[in-house]
Amino acid sequence: MDTMETVTVKISGELGNFTPEEEEELRRAGDIIRKGGLVAFPTETVYGLGGDALNKESSAKIYAAKGRPSDNPLIVHICSLEDMREIVSELPEAAIRLARVFWPGPLTLILRKSDRVPKETTGGLDTVAVRFPSDPVAQKLIEYGGGYVAAPSANLSGRPSPTVAKYVEEDMKGRIEMILDGGEACIGLESTIVDVTVTPPQILRPGYITKEMLEQVLGEVDTDVTILKSDSGQAPRAPGMKYRHYAPKGELTIVEGPSELVSAYINEHTAEDKASGEKTGVIGTEERIEKYSADVVKSVGSREEEESIARHLFTVLREFDDDGVTKIYSESFEKAGLGQAIMNRLLKAAGHRVVKLPQDKSGK
Ligand code: AMP
Ligand code: MG
Repeated sequence: MDTMETVTVKISGELGNFTPEEEEELRRAGDIIRKGGLVAFPTETVYGLGGDALNKESSAKIYAAKGRPSDNPLIVHICSLEDMREIVSELPEAAIRLARVFWPGPLTLILRKSDRVPKETTGGLDTVAVRFPSDPVAQKLIEYGGGYVAAPSANLSGRPSPTVAKYVEEDMKGRIEMILDGGEACIGLESTIVDVTVTPPQILRPGYITKEMLEQVLGEVDTDVTILKSDSGQAPRAPGMKYRHYAPKGELTIVEGPSELVSAYINEHTAEDKASGEKTGVIGTEERIEKYSADVVKSVGSREEEESIARHLFTVLREFDDDGVTKIYSESFEKAGLGQAIMNRLLKAAGHRVVKLPQDKSGK
């Protein structure tokens, strides 16, 4: 692909207060999008790679820059609730209720699309994914960019989603016009995707907004069977979920079971791997990190605060690449609440390579 100059601009925008210089840069970024170019920008979930969602050439450029398969649709980002009406042909009650409670925020709704949205943006589907992000930099960029910004995560297809601008640069330098650096994305995992064209609504990708939170608003909510069972034999309803994703360069194995057995297993295997010339790594948690003896041991966060694990997971996966680690072992996490999203991403990163050690009664 042709290389172009990629400018990185820092925008701090604390609480949405931008300096006049920052305003100017945001307008410039918006103009790039209006003219059909691409700008990476921070959101509260991960960094997005934005282009005009209503311009099919922009969507084509996004797929090219990421190396993304063209049947994997893009999420359209908006900056006001009313704008949703332009791009959908039906607005079910469930969508309105979820939007009122969770927008702006880390929730994506699947709706029937209107004619304004080109099929290039939706990967050929008649539905469109819509999200109203809460990050003030994202909101401004969407506003200045014309109101409808298609933005998948700003990584090369298959790599972990970037939560800091440094990793956007690593993947996108020379491929896009501009990167807005707004610091670390505070959630760190992509949005929850809910299909509201079906009854009951169905979770197609778990995220920060959990099933329990959705149920409080809607009552009954289903989950795509492929998220619950890796061997369901069915195709995921969100096309992107079928691809191997988030993968670090090293081989990642998740070890599940009582914590003492997990650390013993990991130490035994990292010792063997080291002896055969591998560079070994461990993804552990604050509570257990002392137990490991691999070449590179990283804490992803605290079991007491699952949000910290979500926030750091993708960064830790990328750091193992930076360190040249070839064999990585990870602790496993609870599959309820936010843990479902964490395990969903970790399992994909590991290509579902999981070792299950016998459970004791305490389940610890
Ligand atoms: P990303 O923005 O890279 O996190 O990926 C967006 C995700 O949303 C992918 O898994 C897509 O398959 C999914 N998605 C986008 N649009 C739709 C749609 N209309 N129906 C189902 N899934 C969608
Ligand atoms: Mg992605």
